[in-house]
Amino acid sequence: MTSPSLDKSTPAAGTSSSGGEPILRLSGVTKNFPMRSGVFGRTTGSVSAVAGVDFELRKGETLGLVGESGCGKSTLARLIMGLLPVSAGSVEFEGQDITKLSRSGMRPLRREMQMIFQDPYGSLNPRRRVGSIIGDPFAIHKIADGEDRVRRVKELMELVGLNPEHYNRFPADFSGGQRQRIGVARALALRPKLLVCDEPVSALDVSIQAQVINLLDDLQDELGLSYIFIAHDLSVVRHVSDRVAVMYLGKVVELGTAERLYTEPRHPYTNALLSAVPLADPDRAAQRKRLVLVGDVPSPVNPPSGCRFHPRCPKAQEKCAAEVPTLDSGEGVALDPDDLAACHFPVLPGEDLTQARSALTGVQATPEAVFGAIGSNPGSGDPTNRDSTNGDSTNSGARA
Ligand code: SF4
Repeated sequence: MTSPSLDKSTPAAGTSSSGGEPILRLSGVTKNFPMRSGVFGRTTGSVSAVAGVDFELRKGETLGLVGESGCGKSTLARLIMGLLPVSAGSVEFEGQDITKLSRSGMRPLRREMQMIFQDPYGSLNPRRRVGSIIGDPFAIHKIADGEDRVRRVKELMELVGLNPEHYNRFPADFSGGQRQRIGVARALALRPKLLVCDEPVSALDVSIQAQVINLLDDLQDELGLSYIFIAHDLSVVRHVSDRVAVMYLGKVVELGTAERLYTEPRHPYTNALLSAVPLADPDRAAQRKRLVLVGDVPSPVNPPSGCRFHPRCPKAQEKCAAEVPTLDSGEGVALDPDDLAACHFPVLPGEDLTQARSALTGVQATPEAVFGAIGSNPGSGDPTNRDSTNGDSTNSGARA
């Protein structure tokens, strides 16, 4: 799926391959959506979509963002871009808190921060010519017009591997990969420093995914861009990212260098996600135990107390339901400052999670149904429970 040349998972453990200054800093970023009901639309509660996210992105770095559907990745992307107001916290771009800026104050920063959307089919107006679509940012920011704009657009088309002679064609005349290149060209028009890529290759065929990822990689080298790369395909994220942040129910539960996180995940949820990643080597795949999550992701309307993962975690103990774990390097564990986990009892190197047993649920973990569900009967072997377990894990892995 990915080219070997894209593999960035080789820097020394605990260090970003770029090691640059922060370009983006998130502190306590929170987003609650009000729930309304009745004819008067009264607020009856709120949905906790993003709950206190902290991280930095360095100049020239790619930070991958992964997690199940509904974990808050895309909402976080929109908060970073200023497309949604935060409920609390700050988003600093080059030292400036964009959450405090007015619409007009935000306008100059829009040139520096651009977004690439998931759907290359739906994000382009089918009735407009691609030259006009790519030239939109020049028109909106009143930077270039007439022949100058046409020249710049054609340069951009060349930069992303499109034929400038196709300037007057419509989106329908292009393949999926070419349409995503149109989106990339439009995002690059104003020479941004930061690109937030929200599932940029999910809608593309595997061979086309590699082309677009290679393009983003080349552009990063050429233009010194920084990327937030959101995807549900963990293999793609590993290959493009310097560091990876794992989200669960609105929180970052683990953050680390791609190499360390994929080989030695510390958070039980990360372990479960990674155990579902297909392996190319059949011998290694046959040896690996898959960690199966029991139960659905809890509702963000009423998230669990303490650690939000505790109802599904095989290592859960009393403390987990009582205290919110902070994203840190863990007590008594020698981790690089780049390697953080939000867990009271992180997984130790070599620890077999299939042997774990939740002190909260009392369920004995087994290789078939590793993660216990609250309320289920320990060791009962309830076939109904096991069936539902397997079904849930399949979803979990596929959407991870
Ligand atoms: Fe959360 Fe506790 Fe499990 Fe860590 S061990 S993930 S804190 S429930």
